[in-house]
Amino acid sequence: MFDSANFSSPMHLEVFDGLPDAIVIVNQQGQPLYLNRQARNFLLNHLAHLWRVEEPSDWQVLDSQGQSLLEAQLPLQRILRGDCLENEEFILLDHRSHQAPFWIALSGGLSEYGGKPVAILSGRNISARKHQEARLHHQALHDELTGLPNRIYFIDQVNQILAQARPDHSMAVLFMDLDRFKEVNDNLGHRVGNELLTQLGERLQGQVRMASTVARLGGDEFAILLENVSGAAMAMTIAEQLREAIIQPFLLHQYEVYIDASIGIALGPTQYQNAEDWLRDADAAMYQIKDLPDRHWHIFDSSLQIQRSQRMQSEMELRQALAKGELRLHYQPIVTISTQSIIGFEALVRWQHPTRGLLMPGEFIATAEATGLIIPLGWWVLEEACRQMQAWGLQYPSMANLTMSVNMSSKQFSQQNLVDKVKDILARTEFSPHRLALEVTEGVLINHSESIMAILEQLRAMGIRLAVDDFGTGYSSLSYLHRFPFDCLKIDRSFIENADQDFEKLEILQSVVRLAWNLGLDVVAEGVETQRHYAQLKALRCESGQGYLFSEPLAPEGIEALVTRDLSTQSRSQPWLRLSA
Ligand code: C2E
Ligand code: MG
Ligand code: MG
Repeated sequence: MFDSANFSSPMHLEVFDGLPDAIVIVNQQGQPLYLNRQARNFLLNHLAHLWRVEEPSDWQVLDSQGQSLLEAQLPLQRILRGDCLENEEFILLDHRSHQAPFWIALSGGLSEYGGKPVAILSGRNISARKHQEARLHHQALHDELTGLPNRIYFIDQVNQILAQARPDHSMAVLFMDLDRFKEVNDNLGHRVGNELLTQLGERLQGQVRMASTVARLGGDEFAILLENVSGAAMAMTIAEQLREAIIQPFLLHQYEVYIDASIGIALGPTQYQNAEDWLRDADAAMYQIKDLPDRHWHIFDSSLQIQRSQRMQSEMELRQALAKGELRLHYQPIVTISTQSIIGFEALVRWQHPTRGLLMPGEFIATAEATGLIIPLGWWVLEEACRQMQAWGLQYPSMANLTMSVNMSSKQFSQQNLVDKVKDILARTEFSPHRLALEVTEGVLINHSESIMAILEQLRAMGIRLAVDDFGTGYSSLSYLHRFPFDCLKIDRSFIENADQDFEKLEILQSVVRLAWNLGLDVVAEGVETQRHYAQLKALRCESGQGYLFSEPLAPEGIEALVTRDLSTQSRSQPWLRLSA
């Protein structure tokens, strides 16, 4: 329709050729009267589209939001009607090609030329900037590695859907965490780990159909929004299908890698005001799976919510308890089986709660672990136990050689300065490292076996004894005992409990005692409750024991009573206990 060949620029307007913007003058019929050089370069071919909706046409003009325009809304039509455009952005879309859209910013208004009303229009090609913006926008909302939407995008998407959701519409948010991903990363390297995540992203997208958003939240965590689920049953079926897809082997470079996943499900949308809460509940459901053997998905239920608020409450209370000095230590004697004499104590923490009375560790240690409060709590316990034992040693000379065992949480081992902290406490309390034993569970060793080795060796070099606590409840792998510098094995009470009836248990107990011997480790049997247990351990020639038969854990006054009685009377009400010579 317009042809630059039959269009001649009036001499006096040639000055506009030097401008970076396109300048166009159009008469009331949409015919160009003038185009400067830039306009001839990039706008000429599009003038028709800015004036008329031609059907059929490959080109379409859209507003900056991507909405198509009616003819009356086209820029040239608007200007000629008297509208003023100020740097308004439009998209020119070519339906034939799959090329990126062409963006222009237009300004213009009504003017007069040669005594007639005309539209005067200036335009600028802003495609490069727009494409760059789009790229940045995409980057800000997508995970670079997998190309999947990221957390920001996911939250935004779910919030938008929540704003429009009908109450009868059922949806689900899935929170997924990979099992053993860290192992892949650590053993096969990050390149293989990255490849795994990329392939997994593709699998997940392949599994879920339309009206679903798959996002990578970070690390090995993914979230999925399912917009069309009929209810819990369907959400579970999809979770199961997802897991089926995940457990198929991955071919990564020359490796065949198997992983698994835990999937937490939170159904919505009516319960939720915002995406964060919804995702948090799916996360909480996922977290619960860790406590459910052989389960890989779990649906959030509101009792979890209650648990969570209870946990927050007890976290706050526990924090205050630490600050206000409501924690106490009780001490349980550890006894040599053959001579029935006390060789030391284990410090066990209690919480003197202002309203609930004396609380056992089972009621607050998990909260302390989950919130990180176990770290200050653990240091308090260590210092108090060392201080107490040192004071007793000075007060009662017969206690001067007894040992103190203190439980250490795996969380404490993630502290960089653990060894220095222990040194500080020993220096402050003047307690000898040779009388201190630290108990760690098997979980500590498995979780960070590399870094922990150095720490354990440093502690042992200081003269501190190291014990494996609750042996037999965790991985029960004797293999690591060779590698780590332990002195003592505390056999979990579940082995002692039924050893008199359960032949298999007895056999295990027997072989553990023998193995410990071969490795040069002392053995302490936990949970010695009855004479039968005692007789059994004696027969097995297990060295030491700890349990209600000898004594329950006692408050400091109880220990002092025990010690003074032991010193003052020959007639023992408790024939089991005497202090070691
Ligand atoms: P643990 O280290 O294995 O401590 C032994 C537990 O067995 C104690 O429970 C003790 O009271 C109990 N026990 C002792 N003899 C018998 C018996 O004959 N029969 C039965 N059924 N139980 C017996 P408690 O005091 O409730 O402590 C439980 C766990 O809490 C401890 O197990 C330990 O893992 C943890 N814990 C206690 N104090 C601390 C602490 O200061 N720091 C850390 N990180 N954990 C602690
Ligand atoms: Mg212990
Ligand atoms: Mg134990």
